[in-house]
Parts: sequence; C-alpha cells; structure tokens
Amino acid sequence: MVSRVIPVDPFDLVIFGGTGDLARRKILPGLFRRFLAGQMPPSSRIIGAARSDMDAEGYRGMIREAIAEFGGDERDQSDQIEAFLTRLEYVAIDAMGDGGWADLAELMQRDVVRAFYFSVAPSLFGALAERLHVHKIAGPQARIVVEKPFGRDLDTARELNQTLAEHFDESQIYRIDHYLGKETVQNLMAVRFGNMLFEPLWNNHYVDHIQITVAETVGVGGRGSYYDKSGAMRDMVQNHLMQLLCLIAMEPPSRFEADALRDEKLKVIRALEPVAPHHIVRGQYEARGDEPSYREDAENPKSFTESFIAMKCHIANWRWAGVPFYLRTGKKLRARSSEIAVVYKDLGHSIFEGDEARHRNILSIRLQPNEGIDMQVTIKEPGPGGMRLVDVPLDLTFAEALGESGHEISDAYERLIMDVIRGNQTLFMRGDEVEAAWRWTDPLIEGWEARNDVPKLYEPGSSGPEDALMLMHRDGRRWREIKG
Ligand code: NAP
Repeated sequence: MVSRVIPVDPFDLVIFGGTGDLARRKILPGLFRRFLAGQMPPSSRIIGAARSDMDAEGYRGMIREAIAEFGGDERDQSDQIEAFLTRLEYVAIDAMGDGGWADLAELMQRDVVRAFYFSVAPSLFGALAERLHVHKIAGPQARIVVEKPFGRDLDTARELNQTLAEHFDESQIYRIDHYLGKETVQNLMAVRFGNMLFEPLWNNHYVDHIQITVAETVGVGGRGSYYDKSGAMRDMVQNHLMQLLCLIAMEPPSRFEADALRDEKLKVIRALEPVAPHHIVRGQYEARGDEPSYREDAENPKSFTESFIAMKCHIANWRWAGVPFYLRTGKKLRARSSEIAVVYKDLGHSIFEGDEARHRNILSIRLQPNEGIDMQVTIKEPGPGGMRLVDVPLDLTFAEALGESGHEISDAYERLIMDVIRGNQTLFMRGDEVEAAWRWTDPLIEGWEARNDVPKLYEPGSSGPEDALMLMHRDGRRWREIKG
C-alpha cells in the first residue's frame, strides 16, 4: 500500500524569521520533504523574511546548507534540492520598522493561498500582525502561524490573543504545538475513536491511572538564561503535556473537525482540579563531571527554576473521577523518550493457579523515539509445562501491514504546515484553550513562588529526583522506565 499525497492549492508561504534556528532546522527541511512528496504545486513559493541584508540567491545558499545539515536521507538528492531552492525568495524586512514591507506587498500580488509563519520572538507578533494589515498584505483569507511560547501567564496570553484579534479572525490564527503534528498522536485518535474495542474501557471503571512522560537528555545549554525565566511548567506542561492530556481524556468529538475537537479539549482543561503542593515535585539537575549544573547553565546561582517537574492531577468529571494522571517532564534525564501510558486496572481475580504475577494491560503511545502504539496483553508462555502467563506487546502501529506508508512518518512541522495551507485548524490550539491552560497553571506557579519552594536536586542521567518516584510509590504505583 502506497501512501496517498493529498494535493494542496498553490500557495505563498512567508516565513518571518526565515533565517532563524527553527526555520533552518525544522521548517525548511520539512518543506523540502513536502516538495519531494509532490505537495508543492509548481507556482508555490516560500518567502524568507528577516532583517539580514541578503538577496534570494544568498537565502537559497543558506537553506542549501540548512538542508545539508538538518535534512534526513533526502539531503543527498542534490538535483531535487536545486529545484526546491528555485521556489525560495527573500525579503529583508524589519518587523518593527518600515523597511521591506513595500517589497513584500509587491511580491505578494498573486491570487493564491497566503500563509505567514511568525517564527520570531513573540514580542514581534503584534508588530507583524499590524504591518501585514496596514500594508494590505494579509486579507481575510490569509492565515498566520504563531510559535510558542504563547504568553508566560494568563495576562500575557490574553494580551497576545487580543493583539492578534485586532487584525485576524480566530479562524485565521494557527497556534502551533508540534506535539499535535506527530503521527502517533493522530494515530491515538484513530485507535480510540475508530475501534469499538477501546472506548468502552476508557474510563474510571477500567483505567487505574495514566502516565505522561516527556524526557530529554539535553540540558538547557545555550538557552539557559531564557529558560530560567520559564521553567519546565511553562515550557512543557502548559502546552505540550496539557495537549496530550486533553487528547487522552477528552470525550469523543461529534466529528473530526477543528471546533468539535477543540471544544472537547477545552472541557478537559476546565475540569482539571487545582493540584495540591504535595502532589508537585520540582527538580534541578546537578553538575556531573565537566558538565555544568542547571544553575551554572542558567548563569543564575540562586535560581529556583525547575528543569524537571512531576505532578499528580485529577480531572473532575464522571469519566475520570478517581483516576490520577501523572505528568512528568525534565531535562538531562536518562533517555530521550516521550510516552503516554494508559494503565488498566488489575484483574479482579485470576483463574490461573500459581500465577503470582500482576498482569496488567497497558496501552503505550510512544512519541519518541520509535513512534508507535502498543498494547501490553497477557498470553500463555509457549511450550509444555502448564499454564504460565507472560505479558507481550501487541503492535497497534502495524508498520508491516501498511507496507511502505507505515514507515513514512513525516515530521510534525511539515504535516502542520500543510494543514495551514489546507485551512485545517483541527491540530492547532484555539485562543480560549491556551488561556484556560494558563488559568490552571498560574496559581500553581504562584503557589510555589509564594512558598519559596526550592527544587530538589537530581543526578543527570537519572529519572529525576527521588521525591518524584515517591509521588507514585506512595500510591502503590510505579513510573514506567524512561528508555530510549
Ligand atoms: P532565532 O534563531 O533567534 O531566530 C529569530 C529570527 O527572527 C531570525 O531569522 C531573525 O533574523 C528574525 N528577526 C529578529 N528580529 C527581527 C525583526 N525585528 N524583524 C524581522 N525579523 C527579525 O529564533 P528561533 O529559535 O528560530 O525561534 C523563533 C520562534 O520560534 C520563537 O518564538 C521561539 O520561541 C519559537 N520556537 C523555536 C524553537 C526552536 O527549536 N528553535 C522551538 C519551538 C519554538 P534577523 O536577525 O536577520 O532579523
């Protein structure tokens, strides 16, 4: 079975911040893969925009290098790279000034889909929105893509929403969370809502608890001083982990359609209970050998910012009453690994004599590495000698069954950008969702700030502070192993 490439209409995609790290590392290499897949109609263009003074040739050279450095196997296809580069233009523009806007307006005199990717610091979003409007570059059909962070608390998020709303309708605003673009996250919805098997068991009668882990091996490194103002709660939980939690916990939407889905996600966020202080564990990594500690990386010897957080949350509704959701994310952990695990309850009674082991079904959704979904099921250990039970994973990804297309997992960014071109907002956050997430997060942060909570130290390469393990042990449960 070969995967189908769904055609898109011709487009002009302007990338503000087209020379930046995100554009070079993710956006442009991803667009090149879409080009290779035949999803860039011949008249489509990508227009890099930033203050740096260069012409289109200079920009093409920069992106040629970016593909060589950050592309996958496709970076060897030099003829195709050259063909792709002919689609690139560049405009030197200052988001805060007047230079370059007339040139961009001139370039955009075409009747095609227009999308504007704001891959710049959020402090520039308002200026960009306003100038696009003043220079009549973005009409009612245009779309804007905005990057994280979307505010640093409820007030700033609200302000940002209001600024964007002055010039764009909500239906034109695509707040990107690349976790939602991951193949497995979408497969989670297919598994949940495309089968009779799972949904009847997806509640507090059958599920013991749910774990969401996003573990990184890297520290905060070069972005230490930026990160120190944010911390794991703002940087990861408020957005990525919250979105994953919503998709796991939401009620089935009536249709797989943007607002139907986002309405259900919003209900989950609104139903999240405040988290008691003793259900939150914050950590900071220590130094190891020559590797600096968090505080050294952050260049702040008195920093109380967390590079790790684990917490136990509850959703106050009929489906999930009494089911804990354990969230955990951190830097410099044992392995780079993101996983959601739905851990089912124990069997009430085992009919198998001598079977002392506790067998549980666990639905595991791995976002990285090796994206995939499997279900731990209990079967008979093969061979003679009685009925011995073993737990084995049942692969729900079926890469083999799907042949080539099963292996063709496109990067989250390229998938989401194509959704923008198609005008499909299903996998993007709505403004009220983002605000609701901050409304839940803010009091937790204010709480630990008021208590002068000091993060617990943890060893780099570990699973985080001891207290995080205790958070589970106290409940008679265990975190899943963090493995790469
Ligand atoms: P970056 O490497 O610092 O790039 C910033 C870009 O903005 C550059 O192209 C810069 O080019 C341009 N720029 C700065 N001031 C400008 C102005 N006044 N007018 C026009 N262009 C201007 O930042 P980044 O890492 O790519 O991040 C971009 C956005 O994505 C940020 O909001 C960040 O939070 C978000 N993000 C990044 C990542 C990542 O992995 N990098 C991940 C998630 C989210 P000139 O200096 O030439 O103007």
